[in-house]
Amino acid sequence: METTLQNYINGELVAPVSEAYLDNVEPATGAVYSHVPDSDERDVERAVAAAESAFPAWSKTPAAERSRVLGKLADLIERDLDALARAESVDNGKPLSLARSLDIPRSAANLRFFAAAALHQRSESYPMEDVAINYTLRQPRGVAGIISPWNLPLYLLTWKVAPALCVGCTVVAKPSEVTPMTAHLFSKLCIEAGLPPGVLNIIHGLGSKAGAAIVKHPAVPAVSFTGGTVTGREIAKTAAPMFKRVGLEMGGKNPNLIFADADLDDAVQGSLRSSFANQGQVCLCGSRTFVERSAFDGFVSRFVEAAKKLRVGDPLEERTQQGALVSKPQYDKVMAYLELAKAEGGTMLCGGKRPAGLSDRCKNGYFIEPTVITGLPDDCRVNREEIFGPVVTVAPFDDEAEAVARANATDYGLSASVWTRDVGRAHRVAAKIQSGTVWVNTWMVRDLRVPFGGMKQSGVGREGGEEVLRFYTEPKNVCIKIPK
Ligand code: NAD
Repeated sequence: METTLQNYINGELVAPVSEAYLDNVEPATGAVYSHVPDSDERDVERAVAAAESAFPAWSKTPAAERSRVLGKLADLIERDLDALARAESVDNGKPLSLARSLDIPRSAANLRFFAAAALHQRSESYPMEDVAINYTLRQPRGVAGIISPWNLPLYLLTWKVAPALCVGCTVVAKPSEVTPMTAHLFSKLCIEAGLPPGVLNIIHGLGSKAGAAIVKHPAVPAVSFTGGTVTGREIAKTAAPMFKRVGLEMGGKNPNLIFADADLDDAVQGSLRSSFANQGQVCLCGSRTFVERSAFDGFVSRFVEAAKKLRVGDPLEERTQQGALVSKPQYDKVMAYLELAKAEGGTMLCGGKRPAGLSDRCKNGYFIEPTVITGLPDDCRVNREEIFGPVVTVAPFDDEAEAVARANATDYGLSASVWTRDVGRAHRVAAKIQSGTVWVNTWMVRDLRVPFGGMKQSGVGREGGEEVLRFYTEPKNVCIKIPK
Protein backbone atom coordinates (compact mmCIF):
# COMPACT_ATOMS: atom_id res chain seq x y z
CA MET A 1 0.00 0.00 0.00
CA GLU A 2 1.41 3.39 -0.92
CA THR A 3 0.64 6.44 1.17
CA THR A 4 1.40 10.08 0.56
CA LEU A 5 2.37 11.92 3.73
CA GLN A 6 1.73 15.61 4.28
CA ASN A 7 3.12 18.48 6.25
CA TYR A 8 1.16 19.68 9.28
CA ILE A 9 1.02 23.48 9.17
CA ASN A 10 -1.37 25.80 11.01
CA GLY A 11 -3.56 22.88 12.07
CA GLU A 12 -3.94 21.39 8.60
CA LEU A 13 -2.35 18.62 6.58
CA VAL A 14 -0.93 20.24 3.45
CA ALA A 15 1.20 19.30 0.45
CA PRO A 16 4.71 20.79 0.16
CA VAL A 17 4.91 23.99 -1.88
CA SER A 18 7.17 22.27 -4.42
CA GLU A 19 4.70 19.38 -4.73
CA ALA A 20 7.79 17.14 -4.74
CA TYR A 21 8.00 13.96 -2.67
CA LEU A 22 10.78 11.62 -1.55
CA ASP A 23 10.48 7.84 -1.55
CA ASN A 24 10.03 6.21 1.83
CA VAL A 25 11.39 2.68 1.95
CA GLU A 26 10.36 -0.20 4.21
CA PRO A 27 13.72 -1.47 5.55
CA ALA A 28 12.56 -5.05 5.99
CA THR A 29 11.73 -5.37 2.28
CA GLY A 30 13.77 -2.65 0.57
CA ALA A 31 10.59 -1.54 -1.24
CA VAL A 32 9.14 1.97 -1.47
CA TYR A 33 5.90 2.02 0.49
CA SER A 34 5.08 5.71 0.92
CA HIS A 35 6.09 9.20 -0.15
CA VAL A 36 7.22 11.99 2.08
CA PRO A 37 7.11 15.73 1.32
CA ASP A 38 10.41 17.09 0.02
CA SER A 39 9.87 20.39 1.81
CA ASP A 40 12.05 23.45 1.45
CA GLU A 41 12.40 26.89 2.97
CA ARG A 42 9.03 28.00 1.61
CA ASP A 43 7.27 25.35 3.71
CA VAL A 44 9.40 26.28 6.70
CA GLU A 45 8.48 29.94 6.16
CA ARG A 46 4.78 29.07 6.31
CA ALA A 47 5.27 26.90 9.38
CA VAL A 48 7.27 29.56 11.23
CA ALA A 49 4.65 32.19 10.37
CA ALA A 50 1.92 29.91 11.77
CA ALA A 51 3.96 29.21 14.91
CA GLU A 52 4.68 32.92 15.40
CA SER A 53 1.05 33.89 15.15
CA ALA A 54 -0.03 31.08 17.51
CA PHE A 55 2.59 32.02 20.11
CA PRO A 56 0.89 34.97 21.88
CA ALA A 57 -2.28 32.98 22.63
CA TRP A 58 -0.55 29.66 23.43
CA SER A 59 1.99 31.25 25.74
CA LYS A 60 -0.86 32.89 27.67
CA THR A 61 -3.07 29.79 27.69
CA PRO A 62 -3.55 28.66 31.30
CA ALA A 63 -1.14 25.90 32.23
CA ALA A 64 -4.11 23.68 33.13
CA GLU A 65 -5.36 23.88 29.55
CA ARG A 66 -1.91 23.18 28.05
CA SER A 67 -1.69 20.23 30.42
CA ARG A 68 -5.12 18.97 29.35
CA VAL A 69 -4.21 18.98 25.64
CA LEU A 70 -0.89 17.20 26.26
CA GLY A 71 -2.72 14.64 28.37
CA LYS A 72 -5.27 14.15 25.61
CA LEU A 73 -2.47 13.51 23.13
CA ALA A 74 -1.05 10.88 25.48
CA ASP A 75 -4.51 9.25 25.67
CA LEU A 76 -4.77 9.16 21.88
CA ILE A 77 -1.32 7.60 21.50
CA GLU A 78 -2.30 4.92 24.01
CA ARG A 79 -5.59 4.36 22.19
CA ASP A 80 -3.73 3.89 18.89
CA LEU A 81 -0.80 2.00 20.40
CA ASP A 82 -1.07 -1.02 18.12
CA ALA A 83 -1.45 0.97 14.92
CA LEU A 84 1.41 3.31 15.83
CA ALA A 85 3.68 0.42 16.81
CA ARG A 86 3.00 -1.31 13.53
CA ALA A 87 3.62 1.89 11.58
CA GLU A 88 6.91 2.42 13.40
CA SER A 89 7.99 -1.17 12.83
CA VAL A 90 7.28 -0.94 9.09
CA ASP A 91 8.90 2.50 8.80
CA ASN A 92 11.98 1.75 10.87
CA GLY A 93 12.62 -2.00 10.65
CA LYS A 94 12.53 -2.44 14.43
CA PRO A 95 10.73 -5.45 15.88
CA LEU A 96 7.03 -4.80 16.36
CA SER A 97 7.32 -6.12 19.92
CA LEU A 98 9.91 -3.43 20.73
CA ALA A 99 7.85 -0.62 19.21
CA ARG A 100 4.81 -1.83 21.12
CA SER A 101 6.53 -2.29 24.47
CA LEU A 102 8.98 0.61 24.43
CA ASP A 103 8.85 3.31 21.77
CA ILE A 104 5.14 4.02 21.65
CA PRO A 105 4.39 3.70 25.38
CA ARG A 106 7.36 5.95 26.10
CA SER A 107 6.02 8.50 23.60
CA ALA A 108 2.76 8.62 25.56
CA ALA A 109 4.76 8.79 28.81
CA ASN A 110 6.68 11.84 27.49
CA LEU A 111 3.43 13.71 26.88
CA ARG A 112 1.95 12.62 30.19
CA PHE A 113 5.05 13.65 32.14
CA PHE A 114 5.08 17.16 30.67
CA ALA A 115 1.30 17.44 30.98
CA ALA A 116 1.90 17.04 34.72
CA ALA A 117 4.97 19.30 34.68
CA ALA A 118 2.86 22.12 33.23
CA LEU A 119 0.91 22.15 36.49
CA HIS A 120 3.99 22.22 38.70
CA GLN A 121 6.06 25.06 37.31
CA ARG A 122 7.60 27.36 39.85
CA SER A 123 10.23 30.02 40.02
CA GLU A 124 12.60 31.42 42.59
CA SER A 125 12.43 34.55 44.72
CA TYR A 126 15.32 36.24 46.53
CA PRO A 127 14.17 38.62 49.27
CA MET A 128 16.76 41.30 50.24
CA GLU A 129 15.66 42.05 53.77
CA ASP A 130 13.75 45.35 53.67
CA VAL A 131 15.43 46.60 50.47
CA ALA A 132 13.81 44.69 47.61
CA ILE A 133 12.46 41.37 46.41
CA ASN A 134 13.87 39.67 43.32
CA TYR A 135 11.82 37.09 41.57
CA THR A 136 12.48 35.15 38.38
CA LEU A 137 9.99 35.07 35.56
CA ARG A 138 10.60 32.13 33.23
CA GLN A 139 9.00 33.05 29.95
CA PRO A 140 8.68 30.81 26.90
CA ARG A 141 11.30 31.73 24.31
CA GLY A 142 8.96 31.78 21.31
CA VAL A 143 9.10 29.42 18.31
CA ALA A 144 11.24 26.36 19.01
CA GLY A 145 12.88 24.48 16.14
CA ILE A 146 13.01 20.74 16.80
CA ILE A 147 14.98 18.30 14.68
CA SER A 148 14.89 14.58 15.43
CA PRO A 149 16.50 11.37 14.12
CA TRP A 150 15.25 8.04 12.77
CA ASN A 151 16.21 5.56 15.45
CA LEU A 152 13.42 6.25 17.97
CA PRO A 153 11.20 8.42 15.79
CA LEU A 154 8.05 9.15 17.80
CA TYR A 155 9.72 8.75 21.17
CA LEU A 156 12.40 11.40 20.47
CA LEU A 157 10.00 13.74 18.67
CA THR A 158 7.59 13.76 21.62
CA TRP A 159 10.50 13.97 24.11
CA LYS A 160 11.31 17.37 22.58
CA VAL A 161 7.87 18.64 21.57
CA ALA A 162 6.15 17.95 24.92
CA PRO A 163 8.36 20.19 27.12
CA ALA A 164 8.35 22.99 24.53
CA LEU A 165 4.54 23.02 24.40
CA CYS A 166 4.35 22.55 28.17
CA VAL A 167 6.05 25.90 28.88
CA GLY A 168 4.13 27.77 26.16
CA CYS A 169 6.53 27.72 23.21
CA THR A 170 5.15 26.97 19.78
CA VAL A 171 7.07 24.56 17.59
CA VAL A 172 8.27 23.84 14.09
CA ALA A 173 9.49 20.24 14.07
CA LYS A 174 11.27 18.20 11.44
CA PRO A 175 11.34 14.45 11.92
CA SER A 176 13.83 12.32 10.06
CA GLU A 177 13.03 11.87 6.38
CA VAL A 178 14.05 8.23 6.83
CA THR A 179 11.23 7.45 9.30
CA PRO A 180 8.46 10.03 8.86
CA MET A 181 5.37 7.85 9.33
CA THR A 182 4.67 8.08 13.06
CA ALA A 183 5.15 11.86 13.03
CA HIS A 184 2.57 12.03 10.24
CA LEU A 185 0.14 9.94 12.31
CA PHE A 186 0.92 12.12 15.33
CA SER A 187 -0.10 15.24 13.35
CA LYS A 188 -3.49 13.66 12.83
CA LEU A 189 -3.76 13.01 16.57
CA CYS A 190 -2.91 16.68 17.23
CA ILE A 191 -5.83 17.71 15.04
CA GLU A 192 -8.11 15.24 16.84
CA ALA A 193 -6.91 16.42 20.26
CA GLY A 194 -7.84 20.00 19.41
CA LEU A 195 -4.31 21.41 19.62
CA PRO A 196 -4.84 25.01 18.42
CA PRO A 197 -3.64 25.65 14.85
CA GLY A 198 0.00 26.71 14.56
CA VAL A 199 1.02 25.55 18.04
CA LEU A 200 2.83 22.56 16.56
CA ASN A 201 3.87 22.38 12.92
CA ILE A 202 5.58 19.35 11.41
CA ILE A 203 7.61 19.75 8.24
CA HIS A 204 8.89 16.67 6.46
CA GLY A 205 11.93 16.51 4.22
CA LEU A 206 15.68 16.51 3.98
CA GLY A 207 17.92 17.87 6.70
CA SER A 208 19.99 19.87 4.23
CA LYS A 209 16.88 21.69 2.98
CA ALA A 210 14.01 21.71 5.47
CA GLY A 211 16.16 21.13 8.58
CA ALA A 212 18.73 23.77 7.67
CA ALA A 213 15.95 26.28 6.88
CA ILE A 214 14.56 25.87 10.41
CA VAL A 215 17.98 26.29 12.02
CA LYS A 216 18.79 29.50 10.16
CA HIS A 217 15.35 31.09 10.44
CA PRO A 218 15.70 34.35 12.39
CA ALA A 219 12.31 33.89 14.07
CA VAL A 220 13.37 30.58 15.68
CA PRO A 221 15.39 31.52 18.80
CA ALA A 222 15.83 27.99 20.18
CA VAL A 223 16.87 24.84 18.34
CA SER A 224 16.78 21.40 19.89
CA PHE A 225 18.53 18.71 17.86
CA THR A 226 19.08 14.99 18.26
CA GLY A 227 21.16 13.20 15.65
CA GLY A 228 24.71 12.63 14.51
CA THR A 229 27.70 14.65 15.72
CA VAL A 230 28.59 15.83 12.20
CA THR A 231 25.10 17.30 11.75
CA GLY A 232 25.21 18.80 15.24
CA ARG A 233 28.43 20.60 14.36
CA GLU A 234 26.76 22.10 11.24
CA ILE A 235 23.80 23.26 13.29
CA ALA A 236 26.07 24.80 15.92
CA LYS A 237 27.96 26.69 13.19
CA THR A 238 24.78 28.23 11.82
CA ALA A 239 23.21 29.00 15.18
CA ALA A 240 26.23 30.42 17.06
CA PRO A 241 26.54 33.76 15.22
CA MET A 242 22.78 34.21 15.57
CA PHE A 243 23.12 33.65 19.37
CA LYS A 244 20.40 31.03 19.38
CA ARG A 245 19.87 28.69 22.31
CA VAL A 246 20.94 25.30 21.02
CA GLY A 247 20.56 21.87 22.59
CA LEU A 248 22.52 19.09 20.88
CA GLU A 249 22.05 15.40 21.64
CA MET A 250 24.52 13.52 19.47
CA GLY A 251 26.40 10.30 18.91
CA GLY A 252 28.01 7.87 21.32
CA LYS A 253 30.63 5.13 21.59
CA ASN A 254 29.48 3.86 24.91
CA PRO A 255 31.54 1.57 27.15
CA ASN A 256 30.19 -1.40 29.05
CA LEU A 257 32.45 -2.41 31.97
CA ILE A 258 32.07 -5.86 33.48
CA PHE A 259 33.97 -6.61 36.68
CA ALA A 260 34.62 -10.20 37.73
CA ASP A 261 32.48 -9.79 40.87
CA ALA A 262 29.36 -8.92 38.82
CA ASP A 263 26.32 -11.17 38.64
CA LEU A 264 27.32 -12.66 35.29
CA ASP A 265 23.80 -13.80 34.38
CA ASP A 266 22.59 -10.22 34.70
CA ALA A 267 25.68 -8.87 32.97
CA VAL A 268 25.23 -11.18 29.97
CA GLN A 269 21.53 -10.40 29.59
CA GLY A 270 22.01 -6.68 30.19
CA SER A 271 24.92 -6.50 27.76
CA LEU A 272 22.88 -8.33 25.15
CA ARG A 273 20.17 -5.68 25.36
CA SER A 274 22.59 -2.79 25.50
CA SER A 275 24.56 -4.08 22.51
CA PHE A 276 21.76 -5.16 20.20
CA ALA A 277 18.49 -3.42 21.11
CA ASN A 278 16.96 -1.95 17.96
CA GLN A 279 19.82 -3.62 15.99
CA GLY A 280 22.32 -1.52 17.94
CA GLN A 281 20.70 1.67 16.68
CA VAL A 282 20.09 3.32 20.04
CA CYS A 283 22.41 6.21 20.86
CA LEU A 284 22.83 4.62 24.32
CA CYS A 285 23.87 1.20 23.05
CA GLY A 286 27.13 -0.08 24.47
CA SER A 287 29.50 -0.75 21.59
CA ARG A 288 32.76 -1.32 23.51
CA THR A 289 32.65 -4.05 26.15
CA PHE A 290 35.55 -4.37 28.61
CA VAL A 291 35.61 -7.43 30.86
CA GLU A 292 37.93 -8.07 33.82
CA ARG A 293 40.49 -10.64 32.65
CA SER A 294 39.59 -13.39 35.14
CA ALA A 295 35.96 -13.33 33.92
CA PHE A 296 36.71 -12.64 30.25
CA ASP A 297 36.50 -16.15 28.76
CA GLY A 298 33.42 -17.11 30.76
CA PHE A 299 31.58 -13.92 29.96
CA VAL A 300 32.47 -13.88 26.28
CA SER A 301 31.48 -17.47 25.60
CA ARG A 302 28.06 -16.95 27.23
CA PHE A 303 27.57 -13.57 25.58
CA VAL A 304 28.40 -14.92 22.13
CA GLU A 305 26.12 -17.94 22.60
CA ALA A 306 23.28 -15.64 23.61
CA ALA A 307 23.95 -13.29 20.66
CA LYS A 308 23.82 -16.22 18.24
CA LYS A 309 20.42 -17.20 19.59
CA LEU A 310 18.80 -13.80 18.95
CA ARG A 311 16.10 -14.34 16.33
CA VAL A 312 16.77 -12.06 13.35
CA GLY A 313 13.96 -11.68 10.84
CA ASP A 314 10.76 -10.00 9.77
CA PRO A 315 10.14 -7.17 12.24
CA LEU A 316 6.40 -7.73 11.96
CA GLU A 317 6.65 -11.27 13.30
CA GLU A 318 5.95 -11.42 17.02
CA ARG A 319 8.89 -13.70 17.83
CA THR A 320 11.51 -11.54 16.07
CA GLN A 321 14.13 -10.04 18.38
CA GLN A 322 16.34 -8.37 15.75
CA GLY A 323 14.79 -6.58 12.78
CA ALA A 324 16.29 -4.72 9.84
CA LEU A 325 18.70 -1.81 9.84
CA VAL A 326 16.93 1.39 8.98
CA SER A 327 18.11 2.00 5.41
CA LYS A 328 20.39 0.88 2.62
CA PRO A 329 23.00 3.58 3.40
CA GLN A 330 23.01 2.49 7.05
CA TYR A 331 23.33 -1.17 6.03
CA ASP A 332 26.21 -0.35 3.68
CA LYS A 333 27.93 1.71 6.36
CA VAL A 334 27.76 -1.08 8.95
CA MET A 335 28.94 -3.65 6.38
CA ALA A 336 31.89 -1.40 5.54
CA TYR A 337 32.83 -1.27 9.24
CA LEU A 338 32.73 -5.08 9.38
CA GLU A 339 35.24 -5.20 6.53
CA LEU A 340 37.32 -2.58 8.31
CA ALA A 341 37.25 -4.64 11.52
CA LYS A 342 38.83 -7.54 9.63
CA ALA A 343 41.42 -5.24 8.06
CA GLU A 344 42.25 -3.82 11.50
CA GLY A 345 42.96 -7.34 12.81
CA GLY A 346 39.69 -8.17 14.55
CA THR A 347 38.27 -11.67 14.95
CA MET A 348 34.51 -12.16 14.51
CA LEU A 349 33.23 -14.36 17.32
CA CYS A 350 29.76 -14.36 15.76
CA GLY A 351 27.79 -12.54 13.07
CA GLY A 352 29.51 -10.28 10.59
CA LYS A 353 27.15 -11.06 7.70
CA ARG A 354 23.57 -11.16 6.42
CA PRO A 355 21.54 -13.83 8.17
CA ALA A 356 20.55 -16.93 6.23
CA GLY A 357 16.95 -18.09 5.96
CA LEU A 358 15.16 -14.75 5.63
CA SER A 359 11.56 -15.04 4.49
CA ASP A 360 10.63 -14.24 0.90
CA ARG A 361 9.14 -10.92 1.99
CA CYS A 362 12.43 -9.92 3.60
CA LYS A 363 14.93 -11.24 1.06
CA ASN A 364 15.88 -7.70 -0.05
CA GLY A 365 15.77 -6.18 3.43
CA TYR A 366 18.68 -4.66 5.34
CA PHE A 367 19.49 -7.37 7.88
CA ILE A 368 22.81 -8.02 9.63
CA GLU A 369 23.49 -10.67 12.25
CA PRO A 370 24.42 -9.53 15.78
CA THR A 371 28.19 -9.32 15.65
CA VAL A 372 30.81 -9.66 18.40
CA ILE A 373 34.43 -8.80 17.56
CA THR A 374 37.57 -9.28 19.62
CA GLY A 375 41.28 -8.58 19.20
CA LEU A 376 41.02 -4.93 18.17
CA PRO A 377 43.17 -2.18 19.71
CA ASP A 378 41.32 0.63 21.52
CA ASP A 379 42.59 3.24 19.09
CA CYS A 380 41.45 1.60 15.85
CA ARG A 381 38.63 3.17 13.85
CA VAL A 382 36.12 0.44 14.73
CA ASN A 383 36.66 1.22 18.40
CA ARG A 384 36.66 4.99 17.96
CA GLU A 385 33.91 5.76 15.45
CA GLU A 386 30.18 5.41 15.99
CA ILE A 387 28.99 2.46 13.87
CA PHE A 388 25.35 2.48 15.03
CA GLY A 389 24.59 -1.11 14.18
CA PRO A 390 24.50 -4.58 15.78
CA VAL A 391 28.26 -4.60 16.31
CA VAL A 392 30.13 -4.74 19.62
CA THR A 393 33.79 -5.27 20.49
CA VAL A 394 35.02 -7.15 23.56
CA ALA A 395 38.40 -6.80 25.29
CA PRO A 396 39.90 -7.80 28.65
CA PHE A 397 41.23 -5.40 31.33
CA ASP A 398 43.34 -5.98 34.45
CA ASP A 399 42.26 -3.41 37.02
CA GLU A 400 39.79 -0.66 37.81
CA ALA A 401 42.05 2.22 36.81
CA GLU A 402 42.74 0.65 33.44
CA ALA A 403 39.02 -0.03 32.88
CA VAL A 404 38.14 3.61 33.53
CA ALA A 405 40.98 4.95 31.37
CA ARG A 406 40.00 2.77 28.44
CA ALA A 407 36.30 3.56 28.84
CA ASN A 408 37.19 7.26 28.66
CA ALA A 409 39.52 6.89 25.66
CA THR A 410 36.91 8.17 23.22
CA ASP A 411 35.78 11.49 21.79
CA TYR A 412 32.24 10.70 22.92
CA GLY A 413 30.62 10.72 26.36
CA LEU A 414 26.95 9.81 26.23
CA SER A 415 26.41 6.83 28.53
CA ALA A 416 28.12 3.86 30.19
CA SER A 417 27.13 0.70 32.02
CA VAL A 418 29.11 -0.74 34.93
CA TRP A 419 28.49 -4.26 36.22
CA THR A 420 29.78 -5.00 39.73
CA ARG A 421 28.53 -6.13 43.15
CA ASP A 422 31.03 -3.84 44.91
CA VAL A 423 29.11 -0.71 45.94
CA GLY A 424 32.27 1.29 46.61
CA ARG A 425 33.61 0.49 43.17
CA ALA A 426 30.26 1.39 41.59
CA HIS A 427 30.44 4.89 43.07
CA ARG A 428 34.16 5.37 42.31
CA VAL A 429 33.87 4.28 38.70
CA ALA A 430 30.62 6.19 38.09
CA ALA A 431 32.25 9.40 39.31
CA LYS A 432 35.27 8.95 37.02
CA ILE A 433 33.56 7.95 33.80
CA GLN A 434 33.17 10.83 31.38
CA SER A 435 29.58 10.42 30.26
CA GLY A 436 26.23 12.07 30.83
CA THR A 437 24.68 8.88 32.23
CA VAL A 438 26.24 5.94 34.06
CA TRP A 439 24.07 2.90 34.72
CA VAL A 440 25.15 0.41 37.37
CA ASN A 441 23.97 -3.19 36.93
CA THR A 442 21.37 -2.10 34.41
CA TRP A 443 20.88 -0.28 31.11
CA MET A 444 18.45 2.26 29.71
CA VAL A 445 16.34 2.65 32.80
CA ARG A 446 14.66 5.97 32.28
CA ASP A 447 13.41 8.52 34.80
CA LEU A 448 12.06 11.60 33.04
CA ARG A 449 13.09 13.90 35.89
CA VAL A 450 16.84 13.36 35.58
CA PRO A 451 19.15 15.44 33.37
CA PHE A 452 19.84 13.52 30.18
CA GLY A 453 22.55 14.32 27.66
CA GLY A 454 26.13 13.89 26.64
CA MET A 455 29.62 15.11 27.48
CA LYS A 456 32.45 15.72 25.00
CA GLN A 457 31.27 15.22 21.40
CA SER A 458 28.03 13.56 22.50
CA GLY A 459 26.21 16.70 23.40
CA VAL A 460 25.69 20.21 24.60
CA GLY A 461 22.97 20.81 27.18
CA ARG A 462 20.65 18.41 28.95
CA GLU A 463 17.09 17.27 28.44
CA GLY A 464 14.73 15.88 31.09
CA GLY A 465 12.61 17.51 33.85
CA GLU A 466 13.76 20.91 35.05
CA GLU A 467 16.71 21.11 32.65
CA VAL A 468 14.60 21.02 29.53
CA LEU A 469 11.96 23.37 30.90
CA ARG A 470 14.76 25.86 31.44
CA PHE A 471 16.01 25.33 27.90
CA TYR A 472 12.69 26.42 26.44
CA THR A 473 12.26 29.41 28.76
CA GLU A 474 14.13 32.68 29.17
CA PRO A 475 14.74 33.67 32.80
CA LYS A 476 14.07 37.30 33.65
CA ASN A 477 14.85 38.84 37.01
CA VAL A 478 12.31 41.31 38.35
CA CYS A 479 13.58 43.44 41.26
CA ILE A 480 10.96 45.34 43.24
CA LYS A 481 11.99 47.92 45.78
CA ILE A 482 10.20 47.58 49.10
CA PRO A 483 8.73 50.98 49.89
CA LYS A 484 9.83 52.51 53.22
P1 NAD B 1 21.38 12.79 11.39
O1 NAD B 1 22.26 13.76 12.07
O2 NAD B 1 21.73 12.33 10.04
O3 NAD B 1 19.90 13.38 11.24
C1 NAD B 1 19.16 13.82 12.36
C2 NAD B 1 18.16 14.85 11.91
O4 NAD B 1 18.86 16.01 11.45
C3 NAD B 1 17.29 14.40 10.73
O5 NAD B 1 15.98 14.90 10.90
C4 NAD B 1 17.98 15.07 9.54
O6 NAD B 1 17.11 15.27 8.46
C5 NAD B 1 18.40 16.38 10.17
N1 NAD B 1 19.50 17.06 9.48
C6 NAD B 1 20.49 16.53 8.72
N2 NAD B 1 21.31 17.50 8.26
C7 NAD B 1 20.83 18.67 8.75
C8 NAD B 1 21.25 20.03 8.64
N3 NAD B 1 22.32 20.39 7.94
N4 NAD B 1 20.53 20.97 9.28
C9 NAD B 1 19.45 20.62 10.02
N5 NAD B 1 19.00 19.37 10.15
C10 NAD B 1 19.69 18.39 9.53
O7 NAD B 1 21.20 11.59 12.42
P2 NAD B 1 20.43 10.22 12.16
O8 NAD B 1 21.28 9.40 11.25
O9 NAD B 1 19.02 10.52 11.81
O10 NAD B 1 20.42 9.59 13.63
C11 NAD B 1 21.44 8.80 14.14
C12 NAD B 1 22.34 9.61 15.04
O11 NAD B 1 21.58 10.18 16.10
C13 NAD B 1 23.39 8.78 15.73
O12 NAD B 1 24.61 9.46 15.70
C14 NAD B 1 22.88 8.67 17.16
O13 NAD B 1 23.88 8.46 18.12
C15 NAD B 1 22.24 9.99 17.33
N6 NAD B 1 21.28 9.97 18.42
C16 NAD B 1 21.60 10.61 19.58
C17 NAD B 1 20.72 10.59 20.65
C18 NAD B 1 21.04 11.27 21.95
O14 NAD B 1 20.15 11.40 22.78
N7 NAD B 1 22.25 11.74 22.16
C19 NAD B 1 19.50 9.90 20.54
C20 NAD B 1 19.22 9.26 19.34
C21 NAD B 1 20.11 9.30 18.28
